[in-house]
Amino acid sequence: MKTSAFHLATQREVPADAEIVSHQLMLRTGMIRKLTSGIYTWTPLGLKVLRKVEQVVREEMDRSGSLEMLMPSVQPAELWQESGRWDDFGPLLLKMADRAGREFAFGPTHEEVITEFARAEIRSYKQLPICFYQIQTKFRDEIRPRFGVMRAREFLMKDGYSFHMDEACLGRFYQVMFDTYTRIFERLGLEFKAVEADSGAIGGAVSHEFHVLADSGEDQIAHVPGSRYAANVERAEAVAEGEANAPQENLQLVDTPDARTIADLVKQFDVPIEKTIKTLVVEASRSSGQALVALLLRGDHELNAVKAEKHPDVASPLRMATEEEIRDAIGAGPGSLGPFRLPIPCIADRQVALMSDFAAGANSDGQHYFGLNWGRDVALPRTADLRNVVAGDPAPDGSGALELLRGIEVGHIFQLGRKYSEAMNAVVMDENGRAVHPAMGCYGIGVSRIVAAAIEQNHDDNGIIWPEPMAPFDIMILPLNGHKSHRVRELAEKFYGELRAAGREVLLEDRNLRAGVMFADAELIGLPHQLVIGDRGLDKGVVEYRRRGGESREIAIDDAVGILT
Ligand code: ATP
Ligand code: MG
Ligand code: MG
Ligand code: MG
Repeated sequence: MKTSAFHLATQREVPADAEIVSHQLMLRTGMIRKLTSGIYTWTPLGLKVLRKVEQVVREEMDRSGSLEMLMPSVQPAELWQESGRWDDFGPLLLKMADRAGREFAFGPTHEEVITEFARAEIRSYKQLPICFYQIQTKFRDEIRPRFGVMRAREFLMKDGYSFHMDEACLGRFYQVMFDTYTRIFERLGLEFKAVEADSGAIGGAVSHEFHVLADSGEDQIAHVPGSRYAANVERAEAVAEGEANAPQENLQLVDTPDARTIADLVKQFDVPIEKTIKTLVVEASRSSGQALVALLLRGDHELNAVKAEKHPDVASPLRMATEEEIRDAIGAGPGSLGPFRLPIPCIADRQVALMSDFAAGANSDGQHYFGLNWGRDVALPRTADLRNVVAGDPAPDGSGALELLRGIEVGHIFQLGRKYSEAMNAVVMDENGRAVHPAMGCYGIGVSRIVAAAIEQNHDDNGIIWPEPMAPFDIMILPLNGHKSHRVRELAEKFYGELRAAGREVLLEDRNLRAGVMFADAELIGLPHQLVIGDRGLDKGVVEYRRRGGESREIAIDDAVGILT
């Protein structure tokens, strides 16, 4: 592309109403233009970046086996009434009516539409598991749209939805998505962190967010450097709210976890109990006398142990304890306990993480969290304590001192369980011909927000420093005095042709700008590689190579294309 034929509309002045640097730079480079509050046009330059992000997301989703589709943005009110969210979603939902007075919403998310699709299309267990996704415009009537596309009202999201016969399968696929997200943000060249999260209006119990780390981030993250512990402080607040609402005076630590006491406790928290667990995994710490208890769903020891080890919700690495360790931890004499298989009810679609959630709510004296207790206290991470943490506080999971970071939420994955399949009665026939509600997961990525988040993390005083995978072009060719010097112009055209032929995306500056203006624009737009061609260099047989935000050196004319391809 040549700049003379492209729409470049850079500006020097910092826009007065743009508070954070990504918003300023997106306006100054001309990537976006505001139409009205929280609603933006992506210009050709901006759209190139958006499409790059979209493509990485698409490739990794495809690699995970998910299937791309496209659902409508306009959704009938009846679906939202069926799920109960027509009212629950609140004023974020943009509602409208057609000429006949029938009500609709502009989709802020698509659980209802996908569940409607699934209940019509998916009949048999043989069709599961399956995951659909789309990359599509969403609308949320945010109370305070700000920071440009970072918190917009209209924005681009990748949303995926998976369906499973049981929670074990959902848990496995959730891990696949966790890994897929990790790969996406790694490929984009961003510094990010996965954290435990609150499920908010989407629902479900287990959820993780992916945050791009930046000082301007709206979310606060508490983590322990070098450990797996990381949580969004927002989550602690949500748990604390739940705690305030919980009927605490009725709660107690359980001395003998028989089926009834656990069932009673679980009932108070309105948690569905559906299945019987067969395996109990305990990690015991002899020194503290504490044990971490995790309930797993299915009977196969080895499978569960592997799964537990990998489960992102378990703060410390969980493994099968030896029989001796279990006896030690629970203070039982040899022979008094079977080899850690107890037939007790389990919280079917909540898995390990729920233990700490509902543990947090179960506490009345501020000392202990609910856990299974065989004659000794079982302490679980105290999520609620995050509310007032300061850097340096000990870690909730005992792994070290907390550090506080600011983050931008760019992705969010949820184990929804059966919330939507039950509310909307989506059923699938199992092997025995029985109708069951499939377990669901949902997986969001803020595609347009990623663009702004990347700039927050990658810029200097002069402008954007694009991570290579999302740069609008790879290379900018900058001819000095090109309009006067024939040989400069000629070499610029030659590089342009050869680099493009080699598959690079090249932007040739051919607007005959003054050197100062040309360099300022190039720095602002922030392409990773710049080739500066001038008469003085040509006399010596060299051109100047500049890495945006990095080195600058002279290279021989003949080497230039080779270095950049
Ligand atoms: P936030 O906490 O920032 O309001 P959210 O938790 O409401 O986000 P989700 O429902 O988890 O958002 O949606 C999935 C993803 O969509 C988010 O992780 C975020 O990256 C993106 N997203 C959500 N709201 C917006 C918005 N107003 N503008 C741009 N991107 C958004
Ligand atoms: Mg929100
Ligand atoms: Mg959020
Ligand atoms: Mg979220």
